[in-house]
Amino acid sequence: MNKVIEFDEAQSTLYCEAGCILETLQNHTKDLGYMMPLDLGAKGSCQIGGNLATNAGGIKFIKQGSMHSNCVGLKVVLADGTIIDQMDPHVTLPIGYDLKQLFIGAEGTLGFITECAIFCPPYPKNRQVALLASNDYEQIMKCLQISKKELSSQLSAVEFMDWESASIAMDYLSLENPLSDEYKYYILIEMSGNSQEELLQEQMLELLEKLEDHYEDGLMCESETQKDQIWHIREGISMAASGYGLAFKFDISLESKDFEDIILKTQERVNHLGGRVLGHGHIGDGNLHLNTVMKGFKDMDTAKQIKEALQPFVFDYIKEKNGSVSAEHGIGLLKTDYLGHSKSSEMIGYMGMLKKVFDPKGILNPYKVLPDHAFKPGTD
Ligand SMILES: Cc1cc2nc3c(=O)[nH]c(=O)nc-3n(C[C@H](O)[C@H](O)[C@H](O)COP(=O)(O)OP(=O)(O)OC[C@H]3O[C@@H](n4cnc5c(N)ncnc54)[C@H](O)[C@@H]3O)c2cc1C
Repeated sequence: MNKVIEFDEAQSTLYCEAGCILETLQNHTKDLGYMMPLDLGAKGSCQIGGNLATNAGGIKFIKQGSMHSNCVGLKVVLADGTIIDQMDPHVTLPIGYDLKQLFIGAEGTLGFITECAIFCPPYPKNRQVALLASNDYEQIMKCLQISKKELSSQLSAVEFMDWESASIAMDYLSLENPLSDEYKYYILIEMSGNSQEELLQEQMLELLEKLEDHYEDGLMCESETQKDQIWHIREGISMAASGYGLAFKFDISLESKDFEDIILKTQERVNHLGGRVLGHGHIGDGNLHLNTVMKGFKDMDTAKQIKEALQPFVFDYIKEKNGSVSAEHGIGLLKTDYLGHSKSSEMIGYMGMLKKVFDPKGILNPYKVLPDHAFKPGTD
C-alpha cells in the first residue's frame, strides 16, 4: 500500500497507493520537476490516504486548492468489498456523479481509499519569502488583502502567527528571533513561480513598498537557509505547543478578520488558570489553530477547568460567526456533537443517508463524523 505506481508527465499526474508518506511523494515528484499540491507540518508521518480522508489543506491551499480539486482519481474499497475504481480520470471524469468526491473528507466512514491519482503542477523554480510584523491586527489584515491583490496567482502561501506562537516555537527549536524586537502579530508571505529569481525579488520588493505603511518591522529573506528558518518557526509551532505541557488544540475556520477577537477572548477565559493562548494558521484561507497551553502538567482539576472554559465557548463562537468547528483535522470522534454548529440538519440528515447506502452495518470508522442521531447501524 505504499508504492508509487507511476508519474504521467503528459497529464502531470502522480498515481500511487494510499499508504505513501506525503514527504516521500513530495521528494519523488520534486525529483521529476513537479510539485505535490499539498504541504503540511505532519508531512513526514501522514499518508496520502489520510490526507484525502481528512481533505487536508495545508500551506499551499491558497494557491493549489483543496484535495477535492487536486485528486483526479481514486480507488476505494466499500464496506461490502465492492471496489469503486475511478483511477482513470479521462474515462470517468466528464460524466455522471463524481463519486470519488464523496470519499474525500469522509474520514474513512464511507469507504477505504487504496489508490489515488493526484494532479501535480510543475515545481516552481524560484520563491521569495517575507516576514512582516505589526502590533495592530488591522494592519496584518491590510497586508493580507494587498498581497492577495498584488501577487494574485504568484502568492503561494500566507501564514499568520502571534508572538505567543512564534516565541514558543523559537524557544523549542532554539532559533533566534529573525526581527529585532517582539511584535504582537506576524504575517509570512511567500510567492513562487518560474520567473527568474531577480524578477521575483523585484516583485516582492514592489509589494513591500506598497505595504510600507502597514507593518512596523519586517524582512525579505536573502537566502534559502533564511527562508527555511522562517518556515521552520511557523511549522514548528504545533510540535512546540505539544512539547510545552498540557495543550488544548482547536483547528477552526472563520473569517480572518475575527482571528484577533477570538484569540483575545480565549485568553481572557483562561488567564486566571495560567493558560497561554497561541494563535496561528493559514490566514489566507481563514484557518486558525487556536491552542491553549500550560507549562508542565497541572492537576486534573485545572485541566478540567481549562477544558470547560474553552468548550463549548470556542464552538459557540464559531457557530455565531458561521465558521467551521474543524478546518483541517476532521470531525473524528470528539466533535460529532458539534457538527450541527457548522452544517444544517438537512445536510446532516443526507450525510446519515449516504452512510446507510455505503456502510449500512456501520463497520467503517464507527462513531466518527456523524452524531448518533444521524445514523444507527443496521437500521432502515
Ligand atoms: C504537526 C501537524 C501539522 C498539521 N498541519 C496540517 C495542515 O496544515 N493542514 C491540514 O489540513 N492538516 C494538518 N494536520 C492534520 C493532517 O491533515 C492530518 O494529520 C493528516 O492529513 C492525516 O493523515 P494521516 O495519514 O496522519 O491520517 P490518520 O490520522 O491516520 O487518519 C485520519 C483519518 O483518516 C482515516 N484514514 C486514514 N487513511 C485512510 C484511507 N486510506 N482511507 C480512508 N480513510 C483513511 C482514518 O481512519 C482517520 O479517521 C496537521 C497535523 C499535524 C500533526
